[in-house]
Amino acid sequence: MIYLDNAATTAMSEVALNALIEISTNVYGNPSSVYGFGRKTKKILEEARKIIAGCIGAEPEEIYFTSCGTESDNWVMSKAIDGKEKIITSSMEHHAILHPAELQQTNGRNVIFLPVDDKCIVRESSLVDELQGTPVLVSVMLQNNETGAIQNIESMAKLVHEDNPDSIFHTDAVQAVGHIKIDVKEMGIDMLSASAHKFNGPKGIGFLYVNKNCSFTPYVLGGGQEKGMRSGTENVAGIYSMAKALEDNVEQIDELHKHISNLDKMFLELLTSEGIKYVINGDSGNRAAGILNISIPGIDGEGLLNMLDMHDVCISVGSACNSKSQDRSHVLKAMGFDDDRIDSSVRISIGRYNTEEDIRTLVKWIVNYHKITILVEA
Ligand code: PLP
Repeated sequence: MIYLDNAATTAMSEVALNALIEISTNVYGNPSSVYGFGRKTKKILEEARKIIAGCIGAEPEEIYFTSCGTESDNWVMSKAIDGKEKIITSSMEHHAILHPAELQQTNGRNVIFLPVDDKCIVRESSLVDELQGTPVLVSVMLQNNETGAIQNIESMAKLVHEDNPDSIFHTDAVQAVGHIKIDVKEMGIDMLSASAHKFNGPKGIGFLYVNKNCSFTPYVLGGGQEKGMRSGTENVAGIYSMAKALEDNVEQIDELHKHISNLDKMFLELLTSEGIKYVINGDSGNRAAGILNISIPGIDGEGLLNMLDMHDVCISVGSACNSKSQDRSHVLKAMGFDDDRIDSSVRISIGRYNTEEDIRTLVKWIVNYHKITILVEA
């Protein structure tokens, strides 16, 4: 099997898997238990928090464990809004932001969905137009999961804070954490969502960074874990595995980035040398390495996906969640593309375990499919 859908999820790294097994087997106590075995588990939990904080330039007490990126996003959209005049987000966000934002709108909140341009970039001028000196919650994704477009988060956060120091700037960094260098303090990020399975950690575990000066309210009530903000017995094995996965990726961030960028470049060069015409959907100059959304005129993206599936090659159209619902990607629609361009699009997302051979095989099948399509059309 050739797996080229790393924006949907990733294979676990060896260190993450070993950590998961080790903690599940040997340190399975409840961190809230007062005896030694419980305290040992609590120590592991706090060590994980420290590792994660260190990887993003935060302080350990600013990290809250959640079950996934979706939960982190939902927490922000429902519990970081008290005293905020409006919620400002963008039309290219993941549904984990969009749906709770729409719910807030239905509940009578003032919610603004900033447009994106044809490169999937939120124009800062549109953000500035919405800032009127009152406290707001702003949430803009760092790296888009469908197009890889990278927003200038640092600059946006600055604008938001200059407008009102009580405003909160959140970023859904699910696709960015573990892939690019992030320093929340330097970037002016107040809240950040992340998910382990996007950086070679296990599924079902994530975290939310919250700057200690931000006010927000508890999301899950119960036994008072996570300083009473997110109750529920902690998934210690998952948390520790997530920390080790992140640490491993961050330690090798430059090499991994280089490896993935090389494969990304090689893919586009091979397509060109095979005479396949394509357009990049996104910002070719400002795109996450390895997240490639392209339209190949005349090709049916879903047909290509199905043909590749028959040959055990995994890619996606739109996003993993969208491919089930048959809906055209809301992100590509927000970029103003017509149905033809959207229907001929596919997303290839490259990860640390992909090889040059994977890319050659992918291109071979795309060329094959392209030839068949042209023959049928003729
Ligand atoms: N945000 C972005 C940008 C994503 O790509 C995803 C998953 O695809 C999520 C949020 C949701 O993360 P999770 O699968 O951990 O709930």
